[in-house]
Amino acid sequence: MLDKYELKTNEWLERMFKLKEKWALVYGRQSFCADMTTTQRSESMNSVLKRYVSYKHNLLQFFHHFDRLIDERRYQKLKADLRTCHSTPVASFPVEILKHAASVYTLEVFELFQDELRKAYDSQIELCGEIGGAFEYKIIPFRKHYQHTVMYDTSQGNVSCSCKKFEFAGVLCSHTLKVLSSRNIVKIPELYIKKRWTKKAKKSVAEAQPLEDSVSSSQCVNENEEKKNDWSPLQRIV
Ligand SMILES: [Zn+2]
Repeated sequence: MLDKYELKTNEWLERMFKLKEKWALVYGRQSFCADMTTTQRSESMNSVLKRYVSYKHNLLQFFHHFDRLIDERRYQKLKADLRTCHSTPVASFPVEILKHAASVYTLEVFELFQDELRKAYDSQIELCGEIGGAFEYKIIPFRKHYQHTVMYDTSQGNVSCSCKKFEFAGVLCSHTLKVLSSRNIVKIPELYIKKRWTKKAKKSVAEAQPLEDSVSSSQCVNENEEKKNDWSPLQRIV
């Protein structure tokens, strides 16, 4: 690109290009980031903060309202955890692998998985070759101009994709799901179920909490509902 736009003489761009592995997302896809980029994280935080604090607040007021924000976020997380523990996601189309996903994943992660599976059905698969039980496939989404390469090792049951979605987000991508489907695999391989995205992880966290925190679901909701109501006058101030 520097060549294309004749920018090779621009010192700043040249310096940034040399450091590209540190800032370009494509080089960081092999690290787990819960499918979240740095920009998304800061933008989301800014937008949430603006709902609670104002430039007119002094330091004491800032921390007071910031404390409300933290309480509200914890309350929302508690509600999401309760929803996950007491409900099972409903699959849009009842296929075996989706039923398996519904039994292991939290509601939010199940939605992500379901979306990837939907995209898998909307793509074309081509077998490119095989060496010693390792198969190479090309996955081409319909009406798109790109493709991804998936490697599937039958001896180990390992599957990897050039898009690095699993490494980055912890959920199998549509390309790997297409390959698993073509191999008649109807359960998510254990190796590719990240514990932190499972219902069991939520339950084990709840069990690890001290006794005084272990209140019933209705108590949790009621207490927090009261807290929420208490904030109403403060919320009107902001
Ligand atoms: Zn992929």
